[in-house]
Amino acid sequence: MKIFVVNCGSSSLKYQLIDMENESVLAKGLCERIGIEGSKLTHTPSGGEKFEKETPMPSHKDAIKLVLEALTDKDHGVIENTDDITAVGHRVLHGGNIYTDSIQVNDDVKKVIRECFDLGPLHNPANLIGIEACEAAMPGKPNIAVFDTAFGMSMKEKAYLYAIPSEYYEKYKVRRYGFHGTSHKFVSGEAIKFGGLDPKTAKVIVCHLGNGASISASIGGKCVDTSMGLTPLEGLIMGTRSGDIDPAVLQFICNHENIDVNEMLTILNKKSGILGMSGGISSDFRDVGKAADEGNEKAKNALEAFRYRVAKYIGAYAAAMNGVDAIAFTAGVGENDKEARKLICEEYLGYLGVKIDDDANNVRGKNAVISAPDSKVKVMLLPTNEELAIARETLEIVSK
Ligand code: ADP
Repeated sequence: MKIFVVNCGSSSLKYQLIDMENESVLAKGLCERIGIEGSKLTHTPSGGEKFEKETPMPSHKDAIKLVLEALTDKDHGVIENTDDITAVGHRVLHGGNIYTDSIQVNDDVKKVIRECFDLGPLHNPANLIGIEACEAAMPGKPNIAVFDTAFGMSMKEKAYLYAIPSEYYEKYKVRRYGFHGTSHKFVSGEAIKFGGLDPKTAKVIVCHLGNGASISASIGGKCVDTSMGLTPLEGLIMGTRSGDIDPAVLQFICNHENIDVNEMLTILNKKSGILGMSGGISSDFRDVGKAADEGNEKAKNALEAFRYRVAKYIGAYAAAMNGVDAIAFTAGVGENDKEARKLICEEYLGYLGVKIDDDANNVRGKNAVISAPDSKVKVMLLPTNEELAIARETLEIVSK
């Protein structure tokens, strides 16, 4: 069985074709600059040469058509024809508070995705276009929506309600939703398997530390809390996003700089985080790390604040669960930056009995236990794989 995984952004489309017999990637690729000048497809068949094609892609429909042509091409293709594809799994950002799990797309599902446009204005419209493009290109093929918000739906009111007048939840469903859910679900599941934990009771904290960063607490694989909120702006300090902030800061800066709240939100989303704190050096943790090593104080402060915020959330979530069995690091920084993992654990988590083994921590990009044998909490590096997670969810639904 082969599952086609599609992740549509507003002007991009990432894809993988995964053979579920052995969960191997047969081909993967990217369409960039959809709807703007200079559109390009980059297609890489597993073990084969990268194929690139610059050609106009006015819409995601054109992009899907090109991708399917590439997948079935006699030179760089990996399947005979699209009949070889069992189903399509789509990453969909927002399912509101309707969908607690992945689901096969029908008209009702599309209606909900559409109703959530204002909750995910950059992603949901593109996600729906991707689904409709696949429906048009492969009539009758099951399309499965895998929601980034589904994992957070098991949170209780005390975790997801904001302390604002209740009418805003009742009228507009303003609440904590949480994002990166596919990754948090995948990694917390891996933590239970790889760490040999009890699948029903394991208390796991997953630190998804990439350019976008979030953290979750789960018991027995069910989310009890997560750091992103109504939007992905809340929580940790990220590449360009501020994370948690006193909302009064918005009014204060708007008044002083004579800007409106929309401009302020752009600043908090795109110009803050380690980019903003470092004085504009970069949103890339490696660049800021290099500047810090060279003695740049702002860069040092930015990275220290980033680690401090992660540690504060770990402490909060250990309290929220009344304990923690395992902490898992994942995504770009979590998988590659042994220094960040070590400092977060050693500077702040000693009171939980966390002990890192330096030799075990000298690892990147593969499943590993990085804590010492006598650590009270198992600390692990577990690479995330959102595409595989989407493919697994898709297969589960079409196999029912
Ligand atoms: P996203 O999917 O949110 O774009 P990723 O999970 O791909 O983010 O993570 C990207 C981030 O990971 C970048 O900021 C990059 O600097 C960081 N990163 C990658 N390798 C390292 C490393 N060796 N040390 C520190 N940061 C790293």
